[in-house]
Amino acid sequence: MNESTPTQRTSSRKRAQAPICHLCIHGHFYQPPREDPFTGRIPREPTAAPYANWNERITVECYEPNVRAGNFEGISFNLGGTLAHWLDAHAHDTYERIVAAELAYRDRHGVGNGLAQCVHHTILPLARRRDKICQVRWGIASFEHRFGHHPQGIWLPEMAVDYETLGVLASEGIRFTILSDEQVYGELSAGGGPYRVALPDDQEIVVFVRDRHLSNHLSFGMPDSGYVDEWLQKHVAWRCQRDGLHIIATDGETFGHHHRQGVHVLNRILAAEERHGYRLATLGQYLQQHPPDTEIKVIENTAWSCAHGLSRWLVGCECTPGDSRWKGALRRALDNLASDVDQIYVCEARQLGFEPWQLRDRYIDVILGRTSRETFLTGNGLGHLMSEEAERLLHLLEAQFHRQRMYISCTFFFGQLNRYEPRYAIANAVRALALTRYATGDDLSHGFRRDLSSAVSARTDLTGADIFDEIVSRAELEARAGPPVCARPQP
Ligand SMILES: [Zn+2]
Repeated sequence: MNESTPTQRTSSRKRAQAPICHLCIHGHFYQPPREDPFTGRIPREPTAAPYANWNERITVECYEPNVRAGNFEGISFNLGGTLAHWLDAHAHDTYERIVAAELAYRDRHGVGNGLAQCVHHTILPLARRRDKICQVRWGIASFEHRFGHHPQGIWLPEMAVDYETLGVLASEGIRFTILSDEQVYGELSAGGGPYRVALPDDQEIVVFVRDRHLSNHLSFGMPDSGYVDEWLQKHVAWRCQRDGLHIIATDGETFGHHHRQGVHVLNRILAAEERHGYRLATLGQYLQQHPPDTEIKVIENTAWSCAHGLSRWLVGCECTPGDSRWKGALRRALDNLASDVDQIYVCEARQLGFEPWQLRDRYIDVILGRTSRETFLTGNGLGHLMSEEAERLLHLLEAQFHRQRMYISCTFFFGQLNRYEPRYAIANAVRALALTRYATGDDLSHGFRRDLSSAVSARTDLTGADIFDEIVSRAELEARAGPPVCARPQP
């Protein structure tokens, strides 16, 4: 007899009718660059004791244990280029196992679970179009260099979005990105998506939408590792009473660094799918089976980590209490310097007869070590340059690299000017103008220093110009101690 009993038939009908709920956990794994732009060395960070710096400490607390637990095989993730570079050099086994996890996932599902990331974590809506393109191309190149294939998706720094940025992504062959539910409007009937977003010039892009409340429940209300089932019952079970996708997207460092128990909790969530009625998904894999059929719109100039548009990175907002007027003044100083550095570079391009921005976009190959400087010049039709011209051009390209690094989002994230992050931006600016002066003799320091004097720390009266002076005298001391190291920190 092969017939099922009535009870069996009922339960199989129930099973057939049961909603198919998917849960995706996305980890944004990222550390800003920490290398001194003049020496290429990471200074000792006493707050990270007993480790030499925060990269070392967070590796031990988060990246390595998540690798050991096999978590990278079950989540969707992006590994920022600056962090990937550091892991490759200093925690190579961990790095290799993260890359291997992505490739194994791709072998199994025909699509990877890794996303690219715009390389210098710039707030892209605040950047000029050509800088958006540069950051996206550098991010894609960095991903391809490490994972060996083109990324389907990309992580926008701080999820900061405008239509021009989305258009750049689509033009560069990116299929999807993730935003937070407060950054979009329209009928979110498919939960986390995917949704179609129409773009100018008949383009479109797919947007996944994270569940902000569910993400925050995990990030800020993480259960102890013995209470994962209770947490899932309370926060996930009711969401899973209908079809669709639910996305938890949060900093990867939540798992192990911000919360010690996070590695284990994540592992339990990845293993608990059957018990709690969901299936695990990652974004590219879900998109393969669920093409978008609903269109939504994006609220421009928004981000996931500030409820005040982009004010946090522009002029200051309530997210960082106190007088944040230094942010606007510092941004003006950086913008003016960037404009001057660009003008000199464009002049050089006209003189030598090349398209400046495409060459800058391709310079990532030199930075990643994929090609030598000589091959780079030859490959871009510049093999005929006299050695003096070639040297000048390469210095100007290096200046462009540091001029991009001035805009790392954390420069403007916190409330105080006299912190490591704004200092790091100014140090990269000093490096960019030193390289420019070395290449062409143009000295941009006077105007930059004057602009910086308007950036004042309300707490200490210290100005950006004071920080500039400290950095310049330290750099001069280092130059006197020996030949300056032509640092090549990689994204
Ligand atoms: Zn804010």
